[in-house]
Amino acid sequence: MDYTPLFNRDCKFLGGRPARRRVSRRAAAAGAGLVLAAAALAALLAAPPGRASREDTPPVVERPLALPPGAPAAGVAPARTGDDPAQADAAGDAVARVGGPGKAATPRWRTLTVRRGDSLARLLAREGIDPRTVHALVTSGPEARRLRRLRPGERILLARDAEGAVTALRYPLGLERTLEVRREGDGYRARLLHHPLERRQAHAAGVIEDSLFTAAQKAGLSDRLTMALAGIFGWDIDFALDLRPGDRFSVIYETLHRDGERVGEGGILAAEFVNRGRVHRAVRYTDPEGRTGYYTPEGRSVRRAFLRTPVAFTRISSRFRLRRRHPVLNRIRAHRGVDYAAPHGTPVKATGEGKVIFRGRKGGYGKVVMIRHGARYVTVYAHLSRFARGLRAGRRVRQGQVIGYVGATGLATGPHLHYEFRVDGVHRNPLTVRLPAARPVPARHREDFRRRTAPLVAALDTLRRVQLARRD
Ligand SMILES: [Zn+2]
Repeated sequence: MDYTPLFNRDCKFLGGRPARRRVSRRAAAAGAGLVLAAAALAALLAAPPGRASREDTPPVVERPLALPPGAPAAGVAPARTGDDPAQADAAGDAVARVGGPGKAATPRWRTLTVRRGDSLARLLAREGIDPRTVHALVTSGPEARRLRRLRPGERILLARDAEGAVTALRYPLGLERTLEVRREGDGYRARLLHHPLERRQAHAAGVIEDSLFTAAQKAGLSDRLTMALAGIFGWDIDFALDLRPGDRFSVIYETLHRDGERVGEGGILAAEFVNRGRVHRAVRYTDPEGRTGYYTPEGRSVRRAFLRTPVAFTRISSRFRLRRRHPVLNRIRAHRGVDYAAPHGTPVKATGEGKVIFRGRKGGYGKVVMIRHGARYVTVYAHLSRFARGLRAGRRVRQGQVIGYVGATGLATGPHLHYEFRVDGVHRNPLTVRLPAARPVPARHREDFRRRTAPLVAALDTLRRVQLARRD
């Protein structure tokens, strides 16, 4: 799901003005309350037994949330996101310390930022370094080949001696590795440095005053995590229309640390969203086969087997109706789908995982794709301008995969997507049909699921108690 358009509008309420002052004080108080509960929470948040997080490389250590007494809640610290230059700086600084004290004449590192269109040669030429040196650096070992594919915004750290000759170069490759090229004798030698990351848990909580984004910002959540939060609950809550002042949320997420310093953040481990008094909860779980998803504490998937809409549409131009005058045929004819007006060429996504059963032209549908999902469901995407490359009957598609592009082929007055949702062969209204949930935690993993997620559920309980206590 793509929430960008929602957040660009910043989820403002359409209704009356919220009771700003009161709610805001409440939010601040909730923040203070979190400090008091920190000790209890630290115990509850202890890492699940055994398995380290499996989507990560071995040097990752899981550690429970640890808060020094009196310190602000960990979640309140501003988070660094992946493309934050400050993070790259921190990476560079930490890298610069790898050599450590004890080595004589610690080099002074200069940080260069890769610009659009830069090659290493071009970047270093600006520093007055000759092409022969560049060649020697790039050919200093198999790992050094990475230097041929620099991307804008990346950083190169450079150390030079008193004569200006390059003594070492460092190229941070994400948070966990750095390519280092060092002068040795007459030439250079490249090697990879590994920086073990430690994962800790942090939390944030807030009360909605006028928009999710403002409340999340106040709670110290990065935009990335706020989007992730909306993504998790977006199947049940329409963040553009359903939010109300007084709705609240709490989030437990991972932070990444290197040498004791926070260098980034991971994903959401658990979250709660109370929308108009209704409590929604989700915990992240990776099963022993390596599949990760968000589930309710009971093990049901928070996702649906189908997306509600197959296209980022501008407006609904025709709803599901059993009688309407057809704009081209000018006859009364049932409209057994929904038309989404969207610009020509807008990507159309498969709303659910399934198998393509038809791809081609078909009468008034024009260019159309039909997908079967299990035994009961078929979805139809018509009037396409073209199909996604490689899409053929018999192919499997994932949920959200682009299958074609909006057009006006067949009986259509302008570019739009005609979308049908059929259950057991019967056309149903895609806007109102009850969408089945995605697969729950399989029965064989239920015990494992309960054991691993129990600490997260307990932590959500604690966060809620704190939040509620502060409101009274
Ligand atoms: Zn239609």
